[in-house]
Amino acid sequence: MKYKESFYNIEIDRTDNFVLLFNSLRCVYVKLNEEYYGRLKSISLTDIDLENDVITKDLYKYGLIIEDDVDEMDILKLNGEISKYNNLGMGYTIAVTMDCNMACPYCYERHDKTNMTIDVADKIVDNVKNNIKDKKFLDICWYGGEPLLALDIVEYMSEKLIKICEDNDVPYYSFIVTNGLKLNRETAELLKNKCKVSGAQVTIDGLEETHNKRRISLDKNINSFNTIVNNIDSIKDFFKVSIRVNVDKDNSNEIDKLLDYFLYEMNWKDEKNVNTYIARVEDKNRCSLASCYSVLDFNKIEQNFVDKLFELNRKSIKNFYPRSMAIACGAQQLYGAVIDPHGNYYKCWEEVGIDKYKVGSVGKTSRINKNFLKYIYMDIPDECRECKYLSLCNGGCPRTRLYNGNKSCCYRNLGIMKDILKKYYIVWSEEKREGSLPEVK
Ligand code: SF4
Ligand code: SF4
Repeated sequence: MKYKESFYNIEIDRTDNFVLLFNSLRCVYVKLNEEYYGRLKSISLTDIDLENDVITKDLYKYGLIIEDDVDEMDILKLNGEISKYNNLGMGYTIAVTMDCNMACPYCYERHDKTNMTIDVADKIVDNVKNNIKDKKFLDICWYGGEPLLALDIVEYMSEKLIKICEDNDVPYYSFIVTNGLKLNRETAELLKNKCKVSGAQVTIDGLEETHNKRRISLDKNINSFNTIVNNIDSIKDFFKVSIRVNVDKDNSNEIDKLLDYFLYEMNWKDEKNVNTYIARVEDKNRCSLASCYSVLDFNKIEQNFVDKLFELNRKSIKNFYPRSMAIACGAQQLYGAVIDPHGNYYKCWEEVGIDKYKVGSVGKTSRINKNFLKYIYMDIPDECRECKYLSLCNGGCPRTRLYNGNKSCCYRNLGIMKDILKKYYIVWSEEKREGSLPEVK
């Protein structure tokens, strides 16, 4: 049998004694000495009997070589199809209200004041009950508007969904995306203990003055920045918080100071439950600030951010470790849905509450419509077929691609991903953990 080198081997580092590779299809590191590396590079020249060739057998085991007649793109496509159509678990993003207690200039949502009713909540719960049998998990993300404005519904539904999962021996997971204004200790305790919510994503867009201009509390008596920071500080001992910083030209010069503030003034440096990442404000957010960065310019900012984070708290790089993704996001899954307060289904978070993007409604038989099909049948962008990182991002946000002619939508450029992989490996080596990724030859 002849073998060839995997297209998805990425050289991360090289010294006199070894070459460090990352295979993005398997999401695995392999450290090769000269002999192994030499064999890898000459692999396509000879017929090989794997059973009688220890080195080649190892290269094969870690996915660094594959059979000469296998097209790895077909493997990626197969993984994508399995992920798209599998019905192993149930996953819903539930917007319990479209109302919000903030008015952020870049927000893309329409805020009607409707909260989900008990009637709609019961229909969603019934739907879960009727379909949960033999599922491997139920995964709920509470979303809005601001979901904590409808905490009673979150509580009501959680109790019922958890009971259904217990009765059927199905693991239950949940998470919440909140602006953080109402995420005080009492609420976080209720979320964790009663609703089994494992953590929250909260947005902080700069130091006090900047944040308060961008994340504007509708109640003028509330200082948005101080309230959110104090809330995080009061729950960090038991509740995971992932801080998202939305970045554009108006706040990018403050990222370093914000990081210093979190790590040193708030003393969150060694807090396992608090991590920070940055995200680009995109034009699709109807950016009224008119100051969005291009992907390339944002990548430079993210590189600086990662460097600074690594310098101040290198273990935090673990939060950036890439996952293998067979599809770009849940919108491409047949059974995934975002549900609005009226019980309407959508494919994408950014379409929730907008009637023209509806793909169905809970408790009603609905025909498959074009909004649904356009997410299911999306090709991989042409330029991504030549990209070694394809299995880590699958072309990027499907919704953006629907409106840009299916062009690649890299959320990190290739340079920064390589750097993150190198940094991650350094931290991993220092910790000398065994038996977990990355594997090392
Ligand atoms: S979106 Fe960018 S990083 Fe992702 S596969 Fe395509 S070219 Fe590569
Ligand atoms: S399609 Fe894009 S915006 Fe919508 S949920 Fe997926 S990644 Fe997010």
